[in-house]
Amino acid sequence: MTTPARITLTVDVEDYAPAGEAVRAEHIVERLLDQLDAESIEGTFFVVGELAANHPAMVRLIAQRGHEVGLHGWHHTPLPELSHDELRSDLDRGIKMLQDLTGQRVSGFRAPTFSLVPESHWATDLLSEAGFEYSSSVLPAKSPLWGDPGAPRHPFRWPSGLIELPCPVVSFGSIANPYLGGAYLRVLPYALVRYGLAQAAGDELLWLYCHPYDFDPNEPFRHRDELGTIGSRVMWIGRSRMQTKVTKVLQGRSGGCLRDRIAELHV
Ligand SMILES: [Zn+2]
Repeated sequence: MTTPARITLTVDVEDYAPAGEAVRAEHIVERLLDQLDAESIEGTFFVVGELAANHPAMVRLIAQRGHEVGLHGWHHTPLPELSHDELRSDLDRGIKMLQDLTGQRVSGFRAPTFSLVPESHWATDLLSEAGFEYSSSVLPAKSPLWGDPGAPRHPFRWPSGLIELPCPVVSFGSIANPYLGGAYLRVLPYALVRYGLAQAAGDELLWLYCHPYDFDPNEPFRHRDELGTIGSRVMWIGRSRMQTKVTKVLQGRSGGCLRDRIAELHV
């Protein structure tokens, strides 16, 4: 019997509380950290720069509890909507702030909403210049937001030397679909998730992604204009089952943080 592929837990730390309402992410992150301690799981947390600046104690706590901290953009703006100068400045201030807060080298970047697509490939040069070693920002599938169905499905290097760890996808017929994270993991029947995991080779670098709100069934429903009616609903359902699903997926196959796992790659 082959060894199943190990899976790294990644968390995109962001919050959508409207102006004037309390941020919910900090409390949920604390609860998640307790759960991860209990299950001896070490993961990678990509934090939105603006949120980290307003909640420095949360970032320090993530690092103190033994997890890797990476950057998830400054304002959570998709890469194609930024100019070169805006991204350069966001990366420089983001990496400096996270390194000052954690005392760790910051190696990883995740583009907001997997927005590293052909029209934003220029960003990979800036990521290398800023000091990032790897990115996990490409979704090699069609998506209602950003996706690049033509992108490689396995780790590769950009011309700048930056390592890319694409989002794991599974093929259902001719259609590639993400299955290990966020709304997909919340909404898909577990049998499909299990099918996806069974398709992965034992040496594949798999990672699961989630957000604090994925674990927050108590957040009141909000309509988000950028997602429309159905999208807003999808963002809201299945949250009460998320922790159980994540625990089930990672049980016995949790990998270390992404920073450690890229050292094992031959790309
Ligand atoms: Zn995000």
